[in-house]
Amino acid sequence: MSLDASVTELSGVGEAMAEKLARLRVERIVDLLFHLPLRYQDRTRITPIATLRAGVEAVVEGEVRAAEVVRGRRRSLLVRLKDGSGILSLRFFHFSPAQQQQFAKGVQVGCFGEARAGSTGLEIYHPEYRLVQSEAAPVDEHLTPIYPATEGLAQPRLRALIQQALKRLNDDPGALGEWIPEPLRGRFRLPSLLESLRYLHEPPPDAPQERLAEGRHPAQRRLALEELLAHQLSLRQVRLRIQTDGAPPLAGSGHLQARFVTQLPFSLTRAQRRVLDEIGRDLEREVPMLRLVQGDVGSGKTVVAAMAVLAAVSGGYQAAVMAPTEILAEQHFRQFRAWFEPLGIEVGWLAGRLKGKARLDAKAAIADGRAQVMVGTHALFQDDVVFQRLGLAVIDEQHRFGVHQRLALRQKGENGGLTPHQLIMTATPIPRTLAMSAYADLDLSVIDELPPGRTPVHTVAVPDERRGEVIERIRGACAEGRQAYWVCTLIEESEALTCQAAEVTRETLGEALPELEIGLVHGRMKAAEKAEVMDAFKTGELDLLVATTVIEVGVDVPNASLMIIENPERLGLSQLHQLRGRVGRGRVESYCVLLYHPPLSHYSRERLGILRDTTDGFKVAEKDLELRGPGEVLGTRQTGLAQMKIADLERDRDLLDTVTALAEALLSEAPDAVEPLIRRWLGSEAGRYGQV
Ligand code: ADP
Ligand code: MG
Repeated sequence: MSLDASVTELSGVGEAMAEKLARLRVERIVDLLFHLPLRYQDRTRITPIATLRAGVEAVVEGEVRAAEVVRGRRRSLLVRLKDGSGILSLRFFHFSPAQQQQFAKGVQVGCFGEARAGSTGLEIYHPEYRLVQSEAAPVDEHLTPIYPATEGLAQPRLRALIQQALKRLNDDPGALGEWIPEPLRGRFRLPSLLESLRYLHEPPPDAPQERLAEGRHPAQRRLALEELLAHQLSLRQVRLRIQTDGAPPLAGSGHLQARFVTQLPFSLTRAQRRVLDEIGRDLEREVPMLRLVQGDVGSGKTVVAAMAVLAAVSGGYQAAVMAPTEILAEQHFRQFRAWFEPLGIEVGWLAGRLKGKARLDAKAAIADGRAQVMVGTHALFQDDVVFQRLGLAVIDEQHRFGVHQRLALRQKGENGGLTPHQLIMTATPIPRTLAMSAYADLDLSVIDELPPGRTPVHTVAVPDERRGEVIERIRGACAEGRQAYWVCTLIEESEALTCQAAEVTRETLGEALPELEIGLVHGRMKAAEKAEVMDAFKTGELDLLVATTVIEVGVDVPNASLMIIENPERLGLSQLHQLRGRVGRGRVESYCVLLYHPPLSHYSRERLGILRDTTDGFKVAEKDLELRGPGEVLGTRQTGLAQMKIADLERDRDLLDTVTALAEALLSEAPDAVEPLIRRWLGSEAGRYGQV
């Protein structure tokens, strides 16, 4: 019978048990094989009592010297056990009279448990034990696995089920597909899947326990590698699926682009030009571009997007620019209109708040092609929005846009069945190796240079007691005609509380700084209100803007030179870095004040220190990854990488190069293994990608 059969095929597994197993994500027999131990107990050898240490689990065997009920703070049964080396106490707080009688003087007892320092010396509370008959084998052959368990399904039962699954595997070793063929295993020095699984369920007595505990044993790494490989291959398949569609080649004359560049008040940086070349080569092709542009805050991604948009427009196609929030979308809309209207290009706007006739008009302009460039939020890609000839989709701040949305975009090309080119922009720079796994469906470009003349933002951490000084600083900056942000961070995941706090802060700052015009934006305000406030800040009507982290991305007010971030310890490093990127956009010296509530933990101190010492977004991201791990930094939604069963992106980062090389090798040398490999690890998930 196949290992893919339901667990109910195993003896003793009925509906109730199947439900418990399902809680552990075990549905098929094969899932049991991949249900790996969290850790091991060593019951393979008897430890002499004299060598026991507190905190260590061990098998001990000895002779009962005495057993008595003692009265301390709690009544307990105390059994004194002696071997040739010393004496140990077993202590039972729950016990029956029969149990008490079992421990007659002279009886031989084998037991297992964790030793601890007790009132009689070393003691084991409630050990597992048995009375030793002379012929019984006192110890196990293998280390004892401890599996992730669930209520009503304890270790012994789980072990027995896994043993059943292993037995099936032993009866028919071919039943488990080995999708990394022997030559590749040899080249990459990998143990076979079969060996690895057997080893992990039944490690020999001399197995390196510490390495196993760290998850760095070759058998574990083989499995982690395979899982990472499956994820990478599935992303590559998404890419292939998108790229089997045709896209409009957007060679363009470059005429519009040239006019645009000459009208800019600055010249492009070398990094911007290089990335534009990369994009240009993609756009000329008849397969959809799938490119991620990474660039630190302020590196000038918007201009790069604009140039790509112009390539679409001059090729006679529409372009859509999507931002994650209305504030940002609105800002892009203004920017693009200011840039493009002089060139005679029609720029449209669509967001959730556009209602009624205005919405119908916008949709009509999109459908008949009058709107050459559309700027907006997710609303742009809803089902009821039909483009006439969409040639390019630009997605700003990729971290809220996932694989599924990427696939869904295919249907937006509409006319002639062409799929739009996709350009994705992010200010969260992640190291290249990691990017190649997390975004294996995308090509990567990096804007690794800031425009000249930027003065790096000085960052200081200041305790809340010095709030008064900080307020004086705002007064000073604004008196010189500068502007400032005051950012209130999220309180306990509650947007409502955070917005309230921002309102209170605005009040108190208003009292302390009566001469300043102070505005407020937060997530609970209507989009139109927010836009109005942002506008007033941008035009300089407001001196100080109190905001929640809604201003995190993209907001561009070069005259702002001071930012206060309250309770910075609540945010990730990359997020803080992006926030402070809102200042330092002009030529004056800019400051970011991290206003924290003491005492800071050692960890928070270290984090804020990194921000103070580093202005390079890549370095900040590296540290952020080190401290928080990739799951947190990348966000879980879009990658799926954070929900892996065995692999851990942080621990297994050194495998990522191998994963990429192995993916290449597998695709060219064993392409038939790709599908089953993905299915093994992603199951129905992979199926979902396929359906879109
Ligand atoms: P981000 O990469 O964070 O989206 P923006 O595109 O908003 O950055 O650019 C930040 C600021 O830098 C804008 O005011 C923009 O006009 C300006 N800028 C962009 N490219 C250059 C350049 N090559 N030289 C000078 N300023 C530039
Ligand atoms: Mg931007």
